[in-house]
Amino acid sequence: ANIIEIKNLVKSYENGNIKALNGIDLTIEEGEFVSIIGPSGSGKSTLLNMLGALDIADSGSINVAGYDLTVNKNLNKFRGEKIGFIFQLHNLIPNISVVENIEIPMYSQGKSSKEMRKKALELLDMVDLKDKANMKPNKLSGGERQRVAIARSLANDPSIILADEPTGSLDSKTSTKILEQIHKLHKEKNITLIIVTHDMTVAKLADRVIEVLDGKILNAEESTLLDNKI
Ligand code: ADP
Ligand code: ADP
Repeated sequence: ANIIEIKNLVKSYENGNIKALNGIDLTIEEGEFVSIIGPSGSGKSTLLNMLGALDIADSGSINVAGYDLTVNKNLNKFRGEKIGFIFQLHNLIPNISVVENIEIPMYSQGKSSKEMRKKALELLDMVDLKDKANMKPNKLSGGERQRVAIARSLANDPSIILADEPTGSLDSKTSTKILEQIHKLHKEKNITLIIVTHDMTVAKLADRVIEVLDGKILNAEESTLLDNKI
């Protein structure tokens, strides 16, 4: 079954002067791993922001995990229950501990503090960081912080993980490890995984690579993937 259905999606900025998305059609199946590549400014982040209901489109239709995202209704609930976000710069809150960072997304879900702590520690254990639970994020290495971000993205058992350049700030060895971890979670939990990346070695891990240029998805003939132009 399709977990994502997008038809003719348009999103512009600056009163229509910048067409970030210029008629996107896309369907993604439940449990699929899709990577989105394309040059800087092509619309990748905008597309990901639409999928996570971080922004609203101008026109077209977008349906994700049963939610109509063109309607500005229940979007907090949608984000909280369905989506796990992983960003390039992890976005951890510096002045609270690692375990408290993982609890943040759970606040909206009505769990007791005891339940939240238990779940957060389980997630930290999963990314092998239970021993650093009480440290502040700035005591951790870049790779460790990104593992915390992965754990946090799973706090509410999302159906979909949206990752924007998740390894963009890491060295290649750490980045491989982080990707393996994300990939494993996607497999084990059947989470639909969508990764935006500039990096072809990352993109190739996916079941399907989507190439975006000038706010559009390129079709097979237009694609530059076969001759590795990107
Ligand atoms: P990518 O992620 O592929 O680098 P983006 O989706 O960030 O591309 O951007 C697509 C286009 O939309 C670019 O021209 C960018 O400058 C523009 N854009 C993105 N977000 C905004 C914004 N909040 N305000 C104005 N222009 C934006
Ligand atoms: P990426 O590293 O994925 O290419 P960008 O650097 O293009 O991402 O964008 C980072 C953030 O800045 C995004 O949230 C995007 O919406 C915003 N942004 C991008 N271009 C502009 C712009 N011209 N004006 C305002 N915000 C922008």
